[in-house]
Amino acid sequence: MAGRRKLLAAVAVALSVSCGPSPDRGGALPASSQEVEFERERRQMVEEQIEARGIADPRVLDAMRRVPRHEFVPPEYRAAAYADRPLPIGLEQTISQPYIVALMTELIRPEAEDRILEVGTGSGYQAAVAAELVAEVFSIEILPELAQSAAARLERLGVSNVVVRAGDGYLGWPEHGPFDGILVTAGADHIPEPLVEQLEPGGRMVIPVGDVSTFQILKVVEKLPGGEIEIQDITPVRFVPLRRR
Ligand code: SAH
Repeated sequence: MAGRRKLLAAVAVALSVSCGPSPDRGGALPASSQEVEFERERRQMVEEQIEARGIADPRVLDAMRRVPRHEFVPPEYRAAAYADRPLPIGLEQTISQPYIVALMTELIRPEAEDRILEVGTGSGYQAAVAAELVAEVFSIEILPELAQSAAARLERLGVSNVVVRAGDGYLGWPEHGPFDGILVTAGADHIPEPLVEQLEPGGRMVIPVGDVSTFQILKVVEKLPGGEIEIQDITPVRFVPLRRR
């Protein structure tokens, strides 16, 4: 009885902690002691891997605390869901390291009314994190099987402001552009021109560019209000390749 009361108290604490400004988005409400443990791991992940490396935007940190990363990895990797590394998601693809997801999200400078494009839906995790912070996320995945499973997962978790489609993200999604921000989560050997075109003046694209078989440099491509392009190098990264059909 006492044990059960303690557990209920822990769930209540976790609930009050997980309910940020948008308690019903993200589907992150813990329903069992396992969920409470995942919540604890998530707080630790944010503190030790993300804040410790200099990510400071409180909205980004909150989003990383809310989105249940363990729901986005295959069952056999759940125990490692909050570890400081990328994990396999099948079909030779990976969910990025939590820090990189937080960094990319911070770099696009998300605003509540923004509409953003993601290239490389994968598990849907990065899309779900961004969806906590902006109005709408349009996400394109080249492997139809992954596009389908990510869409189903996001729906099950109650994430309603992400639209996923299968297709070649190199070409962007002109019907919904221009975008306030673009996140490219696969490594490219050059900056795709269609994506630059679909960036709103004042908008920012974050993209890994380099040798797709070794490593890339994470870059911020900013379209200034007058339309000029400014490119900034951030840090070396390793992503799976951006492919063409
Ligand atoms: N953002 C994902 C991780 C992406 S891994 C997450 O949070 O889980 C990179 C993904 O990009 C892979 O799923 C890969 O299939 C996809 N991809 C590769 N080339 C692509 C292209 N041209 N258009 C869209 N998706 C692409």
